[in-house]
Amino acid sequence: MTKAQRILIVGAGIAGLALAAALRQRGMVADVIERAPSPVVGGAGLYIVGAGTRALRELGVAESSLREHQVIDTQTFLNHRGARLAEVNVDRFWSGCGPCIGVARTVVHQTLGERAAVQTRFGATVQTLQQQPNHVEVRFSDGTAAASDVVVGADGIHSSVRRLVGGATQPRFRGQMGWRFLAKCPEQISGWTVFLGAARAFLMVPIGGGRVYCYADRASAGVIDDTRDERLERLQQLFEDFAAPVRDALASVESPDVIHCAPIEDVAYEPANHGRVVLIGDAAHAMSPNMACGVAMALEDALVLADILHRNADTSQIANEFFRRRCARIERVRLQTDQRDRMRGLPAFARDLSLRLFASRIYRNNYQPLLLPA
Ligand SMILES: Cc1cc2nc3c(=O)[nH]c(=O)nc-3n(C[C@H](O)[C@H](O)[C@H](O)COP(=O)(O)OP(=O)(O)OC[C@H]3O[C@@H](n4cnc5c(N)ncnc54)[C@H](O)[C@@H]3O)c2cc1C
Repeated sequence: MTKAQRILIVGAGIAGLALAAALRQRGMVADVIERAPSPVVGGAGLYIVGAGTRALRELGVAESSLREHQVIDTQTFLNHRGARLAEVNVDRFWSGCGPCIGVARTVVHQTLGERAAVQTRFGATVQTLQQQPNHVEVRFSDGTAAASDVVVGADGIHSSVRRLVGGATQPRFRGQMGWRFLAKCPEQISGWTVFLGAARAFLMVPIGGGRVYCYADRASAGVIDDTRDERLERLQQLFEDFAAPVRDALASVESPDVIHCAPIEDVAYEPANHGRVVLIGDAAHAMSPNMACGVAMALEDALVLADILHRNADTSQIANEFFRRRCARIERVRLQTDQRDRMRGLPAFARDLSLRLFASRIYRNNYQPLLLPA
């Protein structure tokens, strides 16, 4: 048996690029294909917790190599009118691990792309996957075909690779609609700051350069078709009773085109029995963004899979081996995410009281296991 030589990564998002970078560190190369026609990235900004910046450092991406970002020392919880409920010192919590940062999504993609140094094939996807005794036969959307030792589905929450290997898991709607965009940072906002209203929340995370990543959500019984026409006006109306920084951030948005809207969904992490086809990142285990752990988990997935591929000669059990290494940690994060989602759903007075009394303890419970490396 020889080590995997022909590795195909489907999806040049954070998980896919991080895997290509981690393989390169180990002297291995991968082919990367991406459905989008070019490396343009939507989705605005990201809050990356300490476990994520630790993984970035392992990939050779020190914070200083990110073109622009802001280190976040505190998480501040306010009610919708701006009265303080609680503050958590995240700088202290993650001190032995890595800083929490706010950063534009494009900056993370560009930097990981540079580390990966691969020629991504844009505008391409997989049409069929057939597992053979010693390889996977892949047919691409442009009619070409190839044989791969390992195929990695890093193609996000609505993964085609997951569907092609017969994964029964479908994304589940989590009862919230979410909006993401970048805006001018209001002068009152210097750290991670969330404004919590009844069935609505508005989070701001500074990302450097005078800009702020905004994430707004509202509870919803079903998926809303929020057309771009007058999207900004509708959001302004939804948050019109919120404190001035929220209204100011919304007022600074110049066009509804920069506001990304999507239902909040997740994907259950299922035992893998896909042989040489492995799912990583959101394709494997998307979660609601409540814990802001999606990037950290995607980066860790990449590091763990690269390690497995580097050590293992037998590629036929790659998916199982990867699942075995990741499932406990992923399940723990999912459980915490679900608990946080439930707390968000409490009546405002109960939620606010819990935060006033227990915010630091809740935070510690949520994140403590992630202080240890993956
Ligand atoms: C509203 C919201 C806010 C969030 N905020 C945060 C946050 O602040 N911090 C955080 O850590 N996480 C956050 N997350 C989660 C985070 O965005 C994801 O966990 C992370 O992007 C996962 O990366 P990925 O590479 O697995 O998937 P993606 O980022 O979705 O990348 C998948 C890539 O695959 C490509 N692709 C898709 N289908 C195909 C196909 N068939 N063939 C080829 N290519 C394909 C896509 O174009 C894309 O480039 C948030 C999520 C949401 C929904």
